[in-house]
Formats: sequence, structure tokens, C-alpha cells
Amino acid sequence: MSAADLPRRAALAAAPLLALRDAAAQPAGASGVALLVIDVQVGFVPGGNLAVPEGDAVVPLINDLARRYAIIVFTQDWHPPDHLSFASQHPGRRPFETVQLSYGPQVLWPDHCVIGTRDAEFAPGLDTTRAQAVLRKGFRREVDSYSAFLEADRRTPTGLASYLSERGVGEVHLCGLATDFCVAWSALDARAAGLSTAVIADACRGIDLDGSVARAWREMEAAGVRRMVSAQAGSARPG
Ligand SMILES: [Zn+2]
Repeated sequence: MSAADLPRRAALAAAPLLALRDAAAQPAGASGVALLVIDVQVGFVPGGNLAVPEGDAVVPLINDLARRYAIIVFTQDWHPPDHLSFASQHPGRRPFETVQLSYGPQVLWPDHCVIGTRDAEFAPGLDTTRAQAVLRKGFRREVDSYSAFLEADRRTPTGLASYLSERGVGEVHLCGLATDFCVAWSALDARAAGLSTAVIADACRGIDLDGSVARAWREMEAAGVRRMVSAQAGSARPG
């Protein structure tokens, strides 16, 4: 069912990402390393509308990580109340089923991270004070966006690649929620944008629909995404 979309995404992603790569062409010698904190929100930690098991466990690790990077971007899933990724918008459908939208298969989710609600706020205890940019995604009713770089239509950039390029970033380290959806898609798109990319495994947690965490790791490793742990992480010691 739903988790089938991760293999499918590779085919969906291939062509449009050429445009993303052009937009994000790295200046020679781009040496900055950015920490990308993906979707650590009330909705994705226990008690939230789309809780990731142990999602709150990443908060203290990320608070510590944020002190070790000079360039930091946080993302938020940020949906209108009638977003088409919500099962509630598809009569007769239930959460975690997959439907076809205009751009391809879409997993249906419980209503989550609705703009202006507590579910969309950052998770309790998360220190966001060191974030220089907060990128919100999924705000168009018709298009979901797991990726921090490119929306689910695989054509609409979020602007993050250009932001990182202008700040001289050549490498990104990702953490947050959930490993098998927003973190994985963001990491794969970072690679497609020409960035050296690592995922900080212990600072992520997954939803794991039908083995989707293991599949996401396989796909990320095949794309050249490195796996690191938080003890190794920091812009002073990339990789
Ligand atoms: Zn969402």
C-alpha cells in the first residue's frame, strides 16, 4: 500500500531534478555545511495527529546538534485544513491508503500540521533560536511536499536549494522526522541538487509503513547519502 511510493519516487524524480540541479549550481569551492532540521513538530511527536514512534527522542539530540553548526535551517509541514494529502478530503478513503493525484501516487494521512494550529508548531522543548531560516512546505492545497527542496509534483522548488547556494553551502546534514518520508526525500533531493549529503541517523525517527524505513535507507545509500551519528556531526568535522 502506501509505502510503495518510495520506490516510485525515483522514477518520478529523475527528470525534473535536472532543473533543480541547474538552479542550485554550486559555486566552485562551496564549503559551507548546513544542518537541516526536518519537521520536528507537535504533529509528529507522541500526542500529535501523525505521531512518529519516539519522535520526541530526537529533540535533545537536535538541540545539541544546533550548537555545532554555523548554518541552520528548520522546516515545518504546513498544510491548509483542506489539504489533499488528508484522507478526510477523499470520501471513502482512510489514512495510509494511496490515491492518485495529478502528479502521481499520494499516501493519505490523518489531518496533521494544519496552519495556525498547535499541531503545526515546533515540538515542545525544541530550541529553534539558532535557526536562521524556517522553511514551510505543503501549503498548496493540491500538492504535498515531503521534500524540503522540491514539492511532490517534482517540479515546484521550495527555494531552499537557491538559499543554500547563496550561502555557500556545499554539504548538508539532515535530522528530524520522519526518516522514511520527509527526511529521505529531502536527502535524495539534496543529492540531486549536487550537495554532499549525510543523514544523522540517531537524530531521526521513522513512521515505517511496510518496511519503508529500511527501503529509504537503501535508496539513500544508493544515491550516495552518507549515514552518520550525532556524535560525529558538526560543521567543523564534516562526515
Ligand atoms: Zn504533511
